[in-house]
Amino acid sequence: MNTAPIRLLLVEDDEDDYVITRSALSDIGGGKYTLDWVRTFDEALNTLARDEHDVVLADYRLGGHTGIELLKESTKNGYRAPIIMLTGQAEREIDLEAMRAGAADYLVKSQISAPLLERSIRYALERTQTMGALRKSEERYALAVRGANDGLWEVNLETDEVYFSPRWKEMLGYEDSDIQDRVEEWFSRVHPEDMDRLREEFAAHINGQTPHLEVEHRMMHKDGTHRWMLSRGIAVRNESGTIAVMAGSQTDITARKRAEEQLLDHATLYDALTGLPNRSAFLDRVTAAFKRAKRREDYLFAVLILDLDHFRSINDNFGHRAGDELLIAAARRIESCIRDIDRLARLGGDEFAILLDDIQKPHVVMRVAEQIQKQLQTPFQLGERELTTSASMGVALSTTHYDRPETMVRDADAAMYRAKTHGRTRCEIFDPEMHAQIMTRLQLEDRLRRALDQQEFRLHYQPIVSLETGRISGFEALVRWQHPERALLFPAEFLAVAEEIGLLIPIGWWMLQEAARQAQSWQSQYPAAGALNIGVNLSSRQFSQPELIDRIRQSLQKNNLPPDCLRLEITESTLLETAATRPEVLQQLKELGIQLFIDDFGLGYSSLKDLHRSPIAALKIDQFFVHGIEGSEEKAKLVQATVHLAHHLGIDVIAEEIESASQAARLRSLKCVYGQGFYFCKPVDSEGATMLLAAGSGWWKTAKALEQPVS
Ligand code: C2E
Ligand code: MG
Ligand code: MG
Repeated sequence: MNTAPIRLLLVEDDEDDYVITRSALSDIGGGKYTLDWVRTFDEALNTLARDEHDVVLADYRLGGHTGIELLKESTKNGYRAPIIMLTGQAEREIDLEAMRAGAADYLVKSQISAPLLERSIRYALERTQTMGALRKSEERYALAVRGANDGLWEVNLETDEVYFSPRWKEMLGYEDSDIQDRVEEWFSRVHPEDMDRLREEFAAHINGQTPHLEVEHRMMHKDGTHRWMLSRGIAVRNESGTIAVMAGSQTDITARKRAEEQLLDHATLYDALTGLPNRSAFLDRVTAAFKRAKRREDYLFAVLILDLDHFRSINDNFGHRAGDELLIAAARRIESCIRDIDRLARLGGDEFAILLDDIQKPHVVMRVAEQIQKQLQTPFQLGERELTTSASMGVALSTTHYDRPETMVRDADAAMYRAKTHGRTRCEIFDPEMHAQIMTRLQLEDRLRRALDQQEFRLHYQPIVSLETGRISGFEALVRWQHPERALLFPAEFLAVAEEIGLLIPIGWWMLQEAARQAQSWQSQYPAAGALNIGVNLSSRQFSQPELIDRIRQSLQKNNLPPDCLRLEITESTLLETAATRPEVLQQLKELGIQLFIDDFGLGYSSLKDLHRSPIAALKIDQFFVHGIEGSEEKAKLVQATVHLAHHLGIDVIAEEIESASQAARLRSLKCVYGQGFYFCKPVDSEGATMLLAAGSGWWKTAKALEQPVS
């Protein structure tokens, strides 16, 4: 198995796109690829000439040039590396143009993902092998025909007189006497499209730019058809050095040209490994189905995209040869599950596509999918080894009224990815709702990425109230997102997404800093609020960042804030985990003078030991125990036990989400000292919270006045 990395060259003038490509490749990982990057057309040509890369990824737009020009230049110079074209948006015309000019594949930048890229690279390499084989057969052919069968010619450049051998004339279907010894007899039979090239080659040789004449062109046969000829020749100089005569041969290369065209056609339409139609051929079939759908109202078809599960691990563990064998065998099995009118294609890598033609009812598709699954789960005999596999499948149905084949394939692909993320070995059907969901999600991600820079996050504050005195003892800071096109968004609507795309931590640092700034500003404005503290929520991921302590120290220093004014709210499970794996963090916090609130307390299983050793200011009793506490002895007992435990440890208790006077009263009677909840006040913006502070002991009235609008 060849484990040397595949050497890639990216021709791309935009650095961002370079970074995106590099990161997609690093997602594949395993040192499988090396990536070199050049920015310009000229640099690309120089690099290509050195032949150091296996595959080239070229942007369609390259300053004053296009990727197509690069392709043509590369083909002209016989550079070996296949070129995959990258474009800004999906355009069928550019796609076709690129494929015609010899591109190995065509990718739309915004759709590039690690699996797509990997697939395309593999496909490009396979295709290069096919082309290599073609070239070899071409050379062999040329050797075989050289000599005996050729016609001969000799041109007198001064008189334009020509000698054509009888064989030369015979190759064009004429008797010896049919053709005069004039140069027009030759040139008038040359295909008009090839005439310029023939003249140029003659001129180039006569001017000494080429060592001999060698040109392929079409000639009109007597029967009216065109034949491909290879004309070779050499100029003969007389004693004075001037050229008077050129002589050479003519070879019929029609058969070779045909074979070459067929092979080329085959290579552009069929997958080299499995012999199945490729992506481009598949799209043609789907296009045909679209046309049929326009003519027949009851006509229904489906596109099914199928991707083998865990195929990469087969390649990694058993080698590419085993992987290839499995692909071929799987293709045959899949084919056995579909009807003659259906079409199976290989899109690349381990991804297949099926056009299920003229189906009666949409559920037929699910039956086919089940069949395929069964077939793939039956063991494959690969050499000594027995392997089974399974597939994730996605379906798009023509009932969705698509207007372009590409869109339909894209949706089937999206459904397939959904099947993958929902546990694999299954088939998902794409529906417009799913599409809408995906779009909303993508837009949200996009907006979220910009939100921090655009300063769209806000902190809202909910008072924490002493149940005994009714005074505000502090605030909990809660994040909000002022989405530019939507209402104010709550954490439930964006925090999970932010976490998935790696934004939660930067947002978290911003909040910490902002809460510290706000605390300091209140302190200087209202010295009476000296003991006021602000609780900041930290996700477990944020709490485990190595720079946690530094960040906290910076926020305190920058705002000149005493550590006692800041509380970190973490959940019980975060506390447990930290106590077990990084107890030094709790120690460092203690030294800094920072205390914790244990959020949603009562749901986890913190041990006395963990609580005892950590710098905890309060346990926040989860709403589960608070809601309904008026009527539940059991809940009351649990709260009471927590209160006892906390008092014993010298820790406060805050009841969360108190929604009624009776809940507040019950909690007070259980000696719970602090509370928080809509009953007292909903979270309010910074201005609102400032008004509450300004109102002093009469804050409650202000809070009720602030209820409209709520946050
Ligand atoms: P949490 O820390 O338990 O925050 C309390 C949540 O309960 C807040 O929701 C608050 O608005 C809500 N709440 C307060 N009183 C009542 C009540 O009487 N009834 C009801 N039904 N709800 C009440 P919010 O602001 O939507 O926050 C939800 C969660 O999002 C928070 O739960 C916290 O886990 C997380 N979160 C909020 N802000 C941040 C943040 O800045 N960083 C991190 N990492 N997480 C945050
Ligand atoms: Mg909280
Ligand atoms: Mg909570």
